Amino acid sequence: MSVKNEPSFRESVDLMFNRAVGLMDLPPGLEQKIRVCNATYTVRFGVRLRGSIHTFTGYRSVHSEHMEPVKGGIRYALGVNQDEVEALAALMTYKCALVEAPFGGSKGGLCIDPRQYDEHELEQITRRFAYELAKRDLIDPSQNVPAPDMGTGEREMAWIADQYARMNTTDINARACVTGKPLNAGGISGRVEATGRGVQYALQEFFRDIRDVDKAGLKGKLDGKRIVVQGLGNVGYHAAKFLAEEDGAQIVGIIERDGALVSDTSMDVDAVRNWIMEHGGVKGYPDATYVENGASVLEADCDILIPAALEGVINLTNADKIKAPLIIEAANGPVTAGADEILRNKGTVIIPDMYANAGGVTVSYFEWVKNLSHIRFGRMQRRQEEARHQLVIDELQRLDDYLGDAWSMSPNFKQKYLKGAGELELVRSGLDDTMRIAYQSMRERWHEEEKVTDLRIAAYLVSIEKVAASYRAKGL
Ligand code: NAD
Repeated sequence: MSVKNEPSFRESVDLMFNRAVGLMDLPPGLEQKIRVCNATYTVRFGVRLRGSIHTFTGYRSVHSEHMEPVKGGIRYALGVNQDEVEALAALMTYKCALVEAPFGGSKGGLCIDPRQYDEHELEQITRRFAYELAKRDLIDPSQNVPAPDMGTGEREMAWIADQYARMNTTDINARACVTGKPLNAGGISGRVEATGRGVQYALQEFFRDIRDVDKAGLKGKLDGKRIVVQGLGNVGYHAAKFLAEEDGAQIVGIIERDGALVSDTSMDVDAVRNWIMEHGGVKGYPDATYVENGASVLEADCDILIPAALEGVINLTNADKIKAPLIIEAANGPVTAGADEILRNKGTVIIPDMYANAGGVTVSYFEWVKNLSHIRFGRMQRRQEEARHQLVIDELQRLDDYLGDAWSMSPNFKQKYLKGAGELELVRSGLDDTMRIAYQSMRERWHEEEKVTDLRIAAYLVSIEKVAASYRAKGL
């Protein structure tokens, strides 16, 4: 989305980066080294479809190789361009540093509207794109590891992994060449929902500290908070579903491509999602009010706004009309640099993208480790853990029998305590821990340093310091 006088997405990321480095004491050479995108590869390739050759344009950009492999999703959308891919690659560098995933930043994209092609055609296109990238080591377990992004998912990742494996038949680590794969093709439990789950964990951590809640002018806990979400795709759907089902939040607005739904009471997120799958949009959904101008619902009265679709949706044209006191950037770059300034001046609290949607890359990191270690998490220790828990349960049972009516174990305790952690429980625990620790590192700066006026600056400071330390350690 472009608005007159509005910086592009790439310029927005640069402006935000500049605000942060302005507060730091980096040598100018190092600052420049961190800012610039190392390389962007553009490929044009043809695929024979429906009797004629169609030419596609794709990109893979590598922002920083201070750690390798570099990591970042592959996006399928008509608006993909070099600037966008480079901005997204830069965000990946900072995101990985912030959540301590040991990767540099990268991103890829293909200019395509995936809805215009059937599954077989998409497979042909994806395999050809993957071939072009893999032959230049832009897909490689030790150098460059893609993941899903807008317009792509498990299916595309499985094709990419298979294409790489066909081209590298003796690479024992071939499966680690891409993350976000289906479970039966080397994926990990909990990856599909990881980004949305991360958004939920981020909000839970935000509401744990009354100082943060105060800054947004909110009160209490997540329970009952009115939420508007834009984009009911992978990220938005899971975030909205978990927040409603597990935290008692109310989903009062859902914005999609063809308009929005609003409701005074919480909507059934699964029912809306099923409706979209069946009808291609939200229009006609019976249990909420349809609003044709979907973007206007970004300005609705609510407690939390979750833009989870695309970049630039909160910009100079609507920033001053946004009523939500708290915005969590589930999408990458939904708030432009100009809008960011307007919102900051209004006192809106923004949980920034590089942190808010880092759940995806965090669980991708776990998947990559799983692929390299060739073993499912929890396989070795789960039963042993259960056996140890059984010992405690047996002792408690003895006590229970001895004390009779005076004391007994709480209902369900036995069952809950006995269950050893499987892969999904471990992934969730690792993700929760990562999201908490990264948030706390931003929170500390936000509350303790006068110059750190908002969470975005805090996030940039924490991550740029880590990237700088990594370059320094290399002697640069
Ligand atoms: P997706 O393709 O699964 O979903 C995007 C959703 O947004 C779709 O439902 C689409 O219909 C909707 N949408 C598109 N244009 C819209 C518009 N103009 N107005 C309203 N809705 C619109 O994509 P996703 O994977 O959920 O990614 C969404 C955002 O999250 C992107 O910015 C992406 O970069 C970011 N992100 C995704 C992941 C991930 O793991 N998938 C990780 C980190 C960040």
